[in-house]
Amino acid sequence: MSNTSEKKAADSAGHDFDLVVLGAGPGGYTAAFRAADLGLRVALVERYPALGGVCLNVGCIPSKALLHTGKVIEEAAALEPHGVSFGEPFIDLDKLRGFKDQVVTKLSGGLGGMAKKRKIEVIQGLAAFAGPNSLTVTSGEAKREISFDKAIIAVGSQSLELAGMPWGDPRLMDSTDALNLEEIPDRLLVIGGGIIGLEMACVYEALGSKVTVVELTPQLMPGADPDLVRPLQQRIKKRYAAIHLETRVSRVDVADHALLAHFEGKHSGQEKYDRILVAVGRTPNGGKINAKAAGVKVTSRGYIPTDHQMRTNVPNIFAIGDVVGQPMLAHKATHEGKVAAEVCAGRKSAFDARVIPSVAYTDPEVAWVGTTETEAKENKLEFEVSKFPWAANGRALGIDRSEGFTKLLFDKATKRIIGAGITGVNAGDLIAECALAIEMDCEAEDIGLTIHPHPTLSESIAMAAEVFEGTITDLYLPRKKK
Ligand code: FAD
Ligand code: NAD
Repeated sequence: MSNTSEKKAADSAGHDFDLVVLGAGPGGYTAAFRAADLGLRVALVERYPALGGVCLNVGCIPSKALLHTGKVIEEAAALEPHGVSFGEPFIDLDKLRGFKDQVVTKLSGGLGGMAKKRKIEVIQGLAAFAGPNSLTVTSGEAKREISFDKAIIAVGSQSLELAGMPWGDPRLMDSTDALNLEEIPDRLLVIGGGIIGLEMACVYEALGSKVTVVELTPQLMPGADPDLVRPLQQRIKKRYAAIHLETRVSRVDVADHALLAHFEGKHSGQEKYDRILVAVGRTPNGGKINAKAAGVKVTSRGYIPTDHQMRTNVPNIFAIGDVVGQPMLAHKATHEGKVAAEVCAGRKSAFDARVIPSVAYTDPEVAWVGTTETEAKENKLEFEVSKFPWAANGRALGIDRSEGFTKLLFDKATKRIIGAGITGVNAGDLIAECALAIEMDCEAEDIGLTIHPHPTLSESIAMAAEVFEGTITDLYLPRKKK
């Protein structure tokens, strides 16, 4: 379809804009950019001065910058048994924070520049619907009415606040506070053993904190297969002060020079900490934009339901990203953003991705995609698991990190890959190949016969496929030779 006909499809009927996007996170800015590239007149409304949303400013990007520092500290220390010692690291927190902020500022500035080049009007303020074709943007005392032909809601989510906590005390932190790195507490309690909790625990432990993690369920990172989490748990068990599973913190009191946490469940009692991070999930912002003025349905939990074209119950209004539902991941938000923008421009797009990979950038990383082994068992699928242990991978041994493994799940009848899980350093980068293999309907043979470079961790994917095929030579599996 040409740009002209796309413009026609998005007839703006005298409105200020063809499209208004609420929220400039990864979902929102991607949608705005794609729509502008398809010829629409676009406004992007964001309450904060910086573009990029949670992901860029207080999420994915700053956390990964700090995790990198943690990883280098750990890697340097791990060289000691190889005969190379660097001594204790000296950490200049202001400089470290400065580096992280610089990365964020660079990316956010880049987005501003790209919005300008695309002639997108960026409007700073808090958006709320006034009707199905209009909204009000409030910035301090100033209010601006904007009319639009179509709108995309991309207002994201925010941290869940636990009750019974002394919120307002700077020692009680959410993820944004934790990323601010005000100090390295001696004793840190992390409430919530999900991805945020475990990633931030990794950062603070590497910087010198004694970390305790408390998790409500019987397993850290409950969405992942238990075997994938095990190498991580074994590593951190040796390093952290404690990991309390099946335990909740019922209350936190302010005590003398510390915060006093009260535990209930498998582990009970009270303990003092210098700082506490609450990372028990995020809640969508759907209930905060006066959606009912536009007739947009919002669930009682704040989510906005959509169809596969990201359209809400109101035909000219779309929603994407965290506000639409789980998984709350930046790459899901951007993908949905492109779909919504293309549909707004008259294209026949739909969200039809088969799988969305998940990665915890812990040390080791834990990554999975497609059907998990737990789901495959629950759904009584006819499947086979094949695993390749990194203890048999030359590269993993060379970097002295052989605790990981790669496992692939195949449909027994078709031999097609249906899921994958990888635990180990760089698992997050490796899992992309498995996502592509699932999208491409690859059979085990396709993966096993693809020549992977040697010596790499990526070979473990081909070798896991060879395990399934019975053609593996890097392991001795007498049961299954072909
Ligand atoms: P958001 O990024 O939340 O953006 C929404 C934007 O809308 C915000 O800028 C907000 O200010 C604005 N807004 C809200 N209401 C209004 C309003 N009424 N008017 C105007 N503007 C408004 N995901 C990953 O995939 N990988 C990771 O490594 C990762 N790490 C994370 C680490 C942390 C610490 C956190 C907290 C999250 C992490 N995530 C990660 C999740 C990821 O950040 C989110 O999934 C992603 O940001 C969602 O994008 P979004 O566009 O839906 O919303
Ligand atoms: P989460 O839902 O992943 O984990 C929260 C954990 O807290 C769960 O394991 C839950 O059982 C536990 N919990 C809940 N209440 C508790 C209580 N009272 N006491 C102890 N434990 C409790 O949420 P999160 O880690 O806060 O992350 C929020 C979102 O951000 C997720 O959707 C996640 O996917 C996304 N995120 C992704 C990445 C990444 O992709 N690398 C990184 C960070 C965040």
